[in-house]
Amino acid sequence: MTVFCLVELDGGTVDGDAAGVADVSLRAITLARGLAASGGLAAVVFGDPPVSDLAAYGVTDVYAVSGIDGYAPRAWARVLQWLMSEAGHAVVAAGTERGNEVLAHLGAITGLPMAANCTQAVDNGAGAYAIVRQRWAGLLLEEAVLEAPVALLTVATDAVAPVPAAVAASATVHHVAPSVDGGDLAVRAVETPAGAGGASLATARVVVGGGRGVGSADGFAPLEELAALLGGVVGVSRVVTSEGWRPHTQQVGQTGTKITPDLYLACGISGAIQHFAGCSGAKNIIAINTDPAAPMMTRADYAVIGNLHEVVPALVIALRERAAAAG
Ligand SMILES: Cc1cc2nc3c(=O)[nH]c(=O)nc-3n(C[C@H](O)[C@H](O)[C@H](O)COP(=O)(O)OP(=O)(O)OC[C@H]3O[C@@H](n4cnc5c(N)ncnc54)[C@H](O)[C@@H]3O)c2cc1C
Repeated sequence: MTVFCLVELDGGTVDGDAAGVADVSLRAITLARGLAASGGLAAVVFGDPPVSDLAAYGVTDVYAVSGIDGYAPRAWARVLQWLMSEAGHAVVAAGTERGNEVLAHLGAITGLPMAANCTQAVDNGAGAYAIVRQRWAGLLLEEAVLEAPVALLTVATDAVAPVPAAVAASATVHHVAPSVDGGDLAVRAVETPAGAGGASLATARVVVGGGRGVGSADGFAPLEELAALLGGVVGVSRVVTSEGWRPHTQQVGQTGTKITPDLYLACGISGAIQHFAGCSGAKNIIAINTDPAAPMMTRADYAVIGNLHEVVPALVIALRERAAAAG
C-alpha cells in the first residue's frame, strides 16, 4: 500500500534556479513518510518534479502530471482519486490553501472524511488513524481518531520539521497525462504574481510584507516591484486588508496564511502577535520600520530603522542595477 503526497513547488530562486519542492511540502512528506512505514511513499507533482530532492526525503515513486494548465483544484483532486484507487492507504498534502482545497474536493468526490492541519498521524491499523490536529488557527490541539479506508490529511504548515530520510530512496518517475473533464477545469488559477514562478503565498521562497506603514493601496507598487525582482510575492497585515488596500488572500497571520519563506521582508509592520503567528516559520526576517522598538524589529534577524518609502525604492534601484549588470 502506498501513501500519496501532493507536492507543491516554490517559485525558484532569484538567480533563475528551477522551482524546488516547497518547504511546506517537505514537512508534509516528512509526516507522510512516518505513515508509509514499509509501504511506498509517492509524490504527486503537477509540473516538473525535482526528483533528487524528493528521493532525499524517502520518496519511492514520483508521479509527474502534465497537461493541466495552472492550478485547477478539482482536476488535481481527480488525478489523486485515480492514483489512490490503485493502492492508496493515505493521501497527504500541506495545509496550505491549495492543499486544503484539493483534499476537500477529494473528500467530496470520494465521500471520505478529511482531517486538516494535522501535526501527528499514526496508522493504528484496520482503517483507524490516531491524529493530532490544530484548531482555532493553532491555538488548540485536538486529538482525534479518523476512521477511513483511505485517510485524507493535510499537515499544519509550521508544526512538523522537514527532515530528510536517513537513507535516500531510489525514486521511479511515472509520467501521467490525464484526460480531464471540462467541468473539473471550471475553477482554475490563470494568473500568478510576476516573477513568482507560480508560487503561492504559502510556498514562496521570498515574501515582501507590507503593513499600515505603506499608507495606501498605491503605496504597494514599489513592494510589488521588489517582490518581482526577488522572485517572491507580496504579503500583508490585517490592517491592510481591513483598509481594502489588498485582498484577504494576501494576509499573513493567525487569520490569514502561514508562511515559511527563506526570506520575509516586513515593511511598516509592527509585528503584533497575530501577525507573527503567521510568519514565525520564516528562516530569515528583515524588518524595515521607523520605530526601533516595534516587536517586528526586536524579533527580526536584521532590522533597518528607516522610512520604507525611502528604503524600498533604494532596494529596487539596487536590484534593477544588479539585474541589468547580469544581462
Ligand atoms: C482575533 C485577531 C486576529 C488577527 N489576525 C491577524 C492576522 O492574521 N494578521 C495580521 O497581520 N493581523 C491580525 N490581527 C491584527 C493585529 O492585532 C494587528 O492589529 C495588525 O497586525 C497590525 O497591522 P500593522 O502592523 O500593519 O499595523 P500597525 O500595528 O499600525 O503598525 C504599523 C507599523 O508601521 C510602522 N511605520 C509607519 N510608517 C512607516 C514608514 N513610513 N516606514 C516604516 N515603518 C513605518 C510603524 O512604526 C508601525 O510599527 C488580528 C487581531 C485579532 C484581534
